[in-house]
Amino acid sequence: MKQTTEYKSASNLEKTLTAGKFAVTAELGPPKSADLEHIKNKAKLLKGHVDAVNITDNQTAIVRVSSIAVGKLVLDMGLEPIMQMTCRDRNRLAMQSDILGAYLLGIRNILCLSGDHTCFGNHPTARGVYDLDSIQLVEMVRNMRDVKVFQNGEEIRNGKKAEIKEPKMFIGAAANPFADPFEYRVIRLEKKINAGVDFIQTQCIYDMDRFASWMEQVRNRGLHEKCKILAGVTPLKSVGMAKYMRDKVAGVVVPDYYIDRLAKAEDAAAEGIKICVEQIRRLREIEGVAGVHIMAIEWEQKVAEIVEKAQLKKR
Ligand SMILES: Cc1cc2nc3c(=O)[nH]c(=O)nc-3n(C[C@H](O)[C@H](O)[C@H](O)COP(=O)(O)OP(=O)(O)OC[C@H]3O[C@@H](n4cnc5c(N)ncnc54)[C@H](O)[C@@H]3O)c2cc1C
Repeated sequence: MKQTTEYKSASNLEKTLTAGKFAVTAELGPPKSADLEHIKNKAKLLKGHVDAVNITDNQTAIVRVSSIAVGKLVLDMGLEPIMQMTCRDRNRLAMQSDILGAYLLGIRNILCLSGDHTCFGNHPTARGVYDLDSIQLVEMVRNMRDVKVFQNGEEIRNGKKAEIKEPKMFIGAAANPFADPFEYRVIRLEKKINAGVDFIQTQCIYDMDRFASWMEQVRNRGLHEKCKILAGVTPLKSVGMAKYMRDKVAGVVVPDYYIDRLAKAEDAAAEGIKICVEQIRRLREIEGVAGVHIMAIEWEQKVAEIVEKAQLKKR
């Protein structure tokens, strides 16, 4: 008899990861204005090269087009979105309402985040909501999907006699393998897994040894068997960018040898791509890494080249 797999969401990303294929996702940052062409151009650059596209949610706490709206737009262009949702901007009512709405629009993946603090963004005096944190958000989405209840325990039913229509999302969260205290990082990951996370996308990795050591801790606890881990990479365009990532982005470690390589290169941008490709090749060899998440910040035109050079095209 033919065996059928029961999917939680049946998203393309879930199917790819469940089949044990090395998944490739990429980030698409929405614009700071209602610029449809900008979104379409970015989507075109990614189409056919990745399994799913992360739509960021007011990243760096700067106002941008909503991740749900852009998620629907890219879906209509034939790409699968991963809607990012931060706890910074919404309380639990708004989040549940948006999750139901996003599901109705066809969105099947969600990345649950605390979100960058408002002090980093363009409205530094805005109040951060944080009604829930990222772990509570994961748990809420899991309960909506698996127990078919809202956060207050009420069934997701439109009236007593109506059928239950729960949002079946494939649930992700972020992990930062580099922030201090290092030993605590893997415990926080485990908490997210216990809350119901299906996949993890990590903060961008440059310190490969530290990441390998984090993955060792992950394997020692058997966590790579409980959720799919996608390793985050961000190609470096210049020495300036490398130093900015090192000095200004909390929890990102950029080793000096990469900065030296970029400084000595004739074409720093090309060297940055080369480094990124080398990293992906090495990440692929690490047991428990189920895929790669390419965060090419305002450099989406390089994703296809990275995928090609890292030999991920025919994966
Ligand atoms: C792949 C990826 C995508 C991202 N996308 C976005 C995005 O779209 N938009 C955006 O704004 N940011 C985004 N970020 C940034 C991210 O939200 C921040 O880096 C955040 O600090 C870590 O995210 P998290 O959800 O994993 O945090 P968590 O694991 O939930 O927490 C990070 C730290 O904050 C602490 N913390 C959590 N909640 C509180 C609280 N209420 N009060 C005090 N401390 C608290 C935790 O203890 C922990 O030390 C992204 C990060 C990654 C890695």
